[in-house]
Amino acid sequence: MDLIALAVPFFIASIAVELGFDRARGRGLYRSSDAINSLSLGMLSSTTGYFTALLKLLIWGLVLENFAAFNMPIAWFDSSPGGIALWIAAAVGWDFCYYWRHRCGHEISVLWAAHAVHHQSEDYNLSTALRQSSTGFLFEWIFYVPLFVVGFPLEVLLVVGAANLIYQFWVHTQFVHRLGALDYIFVTPSNHRVHHAQNERYIDKNYGGILILWDRLFGTFEDERDDDPVVFGVRKPLANLNPFWANLQVYDYLLFDAIRARRWRDKLGIWFRPTGWRPDDVAAVHPKPATDITKFRKYDPAVPPSVKRYVLAQFIVAIFLALGISVLIVESGPRGVLVPCLMLWAQLYSLGTLNEGRQESLRVECLRLLVIVPAAAFAMQLYPPPGVTLDGLWVAVFGYVTLSLLALNGCRGDIVKKELFVNKQ
Ligand SMILES: [Zn+2]
Ligand SMILES: [Zn+2]
Repeated sequence: MDLIALAVPFFIASIAVELGFDRARGRGLYRSSDAINSLSLGMLSSTTGYFTALLKLLIWGLVLENFAAFNMPIAWFDSSPGGIALWIAAAVGWDFCYYWRHRCGHEISVLWAAHAVHHQSEDYNLSTALRQSSTGFLFEWIFYVPLFVVGFPLEVLLVVGAANLIYQFWVHTQFVHRLGALDYIFVTPSNHRVHHAQNERYIDKNYGGILILWDRLFGTFEDERDDDPVVFGVRKPLANLNPFWANLQVYDYLLFDAIRARRWRDKLGIWFRPTGWRPDDVAAVHPKPATDITKFRKYDPAVPPSVKRYVLAQFIVAIFLALGISVLIVESGPRGVLVPCLMLWAQLYSLGTLNEGRQESLRVECLRLLVIVPAAAFAMQLYPPPGVTLDGLWVAVFGYVTLSLLALNGCRGDIVKKELFVNKQ
């Protein structure tokens, strides 16, 4: 049972409700470009996960089989008082490991390279919660190994891990202010807003997943203050809407310094040093300007309304494609969803470039639409989707491509006009 997949309709409905609230109150907490970028990163993370999740499952399974201190049969985790106590122990243990995983994710360079994705949004709303990394699979599993050494069953830890992630969804909102005693014990919207801040006072604070008590215990807690309103985002902004680059940006910074460092100690060590550390020789030749938060402006390229509408409509198609893939993976495994995933990833990339308002985005989107026909033919030949006639699918594919090309042609004039306008400035 995949709890996160089951929670997706709830995530979508909650975002729709918050968006409605935002529009009704005129607060402007949602910008379509930022929200679509965040949701694209969530879709990219979950679909790349189909191909990468095996790594952690294999290692955790091996640890459990060979190094578990206690044998805890799954039957122990029932609804009796003892069973409930065991569930709570597993959930608290997972939350404790999450605290250290998250803290190291901010304080060690190569782990920050993976986790930074979650912090690049310059807005803060429920869509930010789904903004997840696609490269976390490389190291994040390490932090949960102690729980397998204790001997908690894999099924139990997968459930408490999913529940931990689902809990964190609701705290990504600005519509809930303070919650009194709850702010003291649990991670709440107020203390998680602090975590997403780039203000000096709030940097590297409030790492908890469900319990904020860990931060109070280990000295990383900071309270939200009305006289220092949170400025959301990271200090080296992403400044584009490319979901692939969002995943690679910090690795690129590290690689830049590693290539130019003279000493081998620095070339290798830079990846595991505290975040922000740079080799002396590289920093001297390639200094980075200090960040001035008072000059911070959100990345917000001007995009014609017709393009915004086109991107929104296409993004709804992408959501349905991702939902279809999540059903198909159960039937056909990673091999069966590879081509649909490639189509989805191309769509998310193309929608990002369109939302940046660049003229070449038209060519990218046009090419994507034309490639869909042979890609769909290949995918359907390889793994015919169950319960659908191929004729019906072909009508859908051709209809979608034709309508999209017509709509894209309608946006062309607006993008060209906008480019001319920008060039005259
Ligand atoms: Zn974080
Ligand atoms: Zn967050």
